[in-house]
Amino acid sequence: MERSGSGGVFCRRIETWSFRKRTSTTPWSTGSSRPMEGLGKSTAFLASGIAAWASWNPSRPSRYVCHKPLPPCRRAWGIFVVCISLRSQLGWAKLQETMAEQQSAGFVSLALKWRPQTFAAVVGQEHVTTTLRNAVRLGRIHQAYLFCGPRGVGKTTTARVLARALNCQQVTQEGEPCNQCPPCREILQGRSLDVLEIDGASNNSVEDVRRLRESAKFPPSSGRYKLYIIDEVHMLSLSAFNALLKILEEPPAHMVFVLATTEPQKVPATVISRCQRFDFRRLSLEQITAHLCFVAEQEGVRLPVDAAYMLAKKAEGSLRDALSLLDQAIAFCGTEIPPDALTQMLHVVDTDTLFRTTAALRQRDLRGILELVQGIVNRGYDLQEFIEALIEHLRHLVAVCATGSVQFLDFPHDIARQYAAEAQLFRLPDLMNWLTLAHATQQAMRFSPHPRIRLEVGLIQMALLENAAEFGELLQLLYRLEQRGGIDPIAPTVSEATAPYTVTGGRAPHRTPEPAHAEAAPEQLLQELLGQDPMLRTLLQTGVLQVLPVGDVLLLRTQQSYVKDILQQRLPQLQAEMRSRLGSTAPVVQLELSTAESPRSSPGNLERLEERLQTLLGAQKVPSTTVKGRSSL
Ligand SMILES: [Zn+2]
Repeated sequence: MERSGSGGVFCRRIETWSFRKRTSTTPWSTGSSRPMEGLGKSTAFLASGIAAWASWNPSRPSRYVCHKPLPPCRRAWGIFVVCISLRSQLGWAKLQETMAEQQSAGFVSLALKWRPQTFAAVVGQEHVTTTLRNAVRLGRIHQAYLFCGPRGVGKTTTARVLARALNCQQVTQEGEPCNQCPPCREILQGRSLDVLEIDGASNNSVEDVRRLRESAKFPPSSGRYKLYIIDEVHMLSLSAFNALLKILEEPPAHMVFVLATTEPQKVPATVISRCQRFDFRRLSLEQITAHLCFVAEQEGVRLPVDAAYMLAKKAEGSLRDALSLLDQAIAFCGTEIPPDALTQMLHVVDTDTLFRTTAALRQRDLRGILELVQGIVNRGYDLQEFIEALIEHLRHLVAVCATGSVQFLDFPHDIARQYAAEAQLFRLPDLMNWLTLAHATQQAMRFSPHPRIRLEVGLIQMALLENAAEFGELLQLLYRLEQRGGIDPIAPTVSEATAPYTVTGGRAPHRTPEPAHAEAAPEQLLQELLGQDPMLRTLLQTGVLQVLPVGDVLLLRTQQSYVKDILQQRLPQLQAEMRSRLGSTAPVVQLELSTAESPRSSPGNLERLEERLQTLLGAQKVPSTTVKGRSSL
């Protein structure tokens, strides 16, 4: 229906109505304002006006026949109303059109309503849209495009925008379609003969492709290009692919194919090689969250960032899914969407619960933990989902703690800031231990007939876990105790320059107690120098390389010949460095390829150390925080 000339529409409607009424038994020209069947009061009134006008106008069309003359006052009144209606064009038709628009707008899903109409509006696929825009701008159109990527990231949408851009009469400077000219409008309304969307899943036979080939021969009806969009192209049968290959090899100049698929590996290589391939990316949580917030704002819906984040997370990188979920959320909550309601609707664990859990663990609030679990059960959450969410949450905290930044979190800014603040309260070794226990709990819950009990036990274990002390710290403490209490000296050398969890050097030769730093200084310096190289630092940390003072000589001992080769090259430089720092007192550094088992890994030594730690500090064995423990995660 055209917006302009609603007066014409008005007349047409009235005429239609008059024809209809004349076939019925009731004469329409009674002039009564009684509502007639199927029509509103105002229509009936207007009809009476037309009837009056028709009976008064001598040049009236023959079909406006009155059966009964109207009294003059009613006739005048009717004419007046009709004139006013026609002049102001306020028309009932226009009103109805608006109403119909509003009504239909209510039924359009957000995913359809907010479907991008230009390349620039496609979210998160700049690498594709920029290329296509430039191709349109420069007129370098390939004969076939292959759009790959997960569902709901904009493949078909981009194909449609491309279709408009190719046939648009007023392409913008940037290569965007105008969406106003007749071809654009035709494609938008889905009645263009030049753009054909084919569902590969249901038209997958060779006959379908042959028909397509036949129709492809004919030039476009109005635009410059004929564009075939084949969705889910991987569903085509092999013979259909072969038939398609024929036309892809020698396509008519006016043909452009867009093949869209979620599974490019199922498309034969011969087809792929004839296409320009574009890989659509899964959208990041941040992109989806930002888009949801934008759409919600435009729709007049209050959607807090954490609620948007929850929807985005559930959508798993698909913008269409996210918008469908937003639709559902609006239906569920109305124009105000609180995160609480979403947890009910989506059945996901909100970040608030996770933060409360880690706070309870930190404070060793056992009562709080049990209440939390009860709350989770009462709200009907899946406990497996909860423990998975907790593991992910701990991983985020570990990432922030380990790097001191939030760059490894795929979060909206607000939530990332919350993680950054929370991570300040934890120590990395504790988080690592919790993570290990959480993993163990998850495994145990999977096979347990009582997952709730397993979860509670796991959480309590995590809460009661002693604060993890770094191995180096413990050894230092041990050494200090030895100095004070005359316990059997073990005198391991602890390097502060190296990273946590490391003990370098093995058991040193028996020495009388003496200031540690006087002896350890050259050794520490050498370790520092070695530690400047990331690879050597790792070798030191993992015990592959050891620094041992033997008399006046510093021994670099290793069991690996490749390590020896590396060190052989560096040795002169190291020696020079040592001499420049320590002067004439610098010890000689020597290399030794040892075939014997290293003292560090000898079980006896470790056992003795463990025993001593247990007796001295009342220490308990916790999941390992050593390098070995970390790599198991
Ligand atoms: Zn256009």
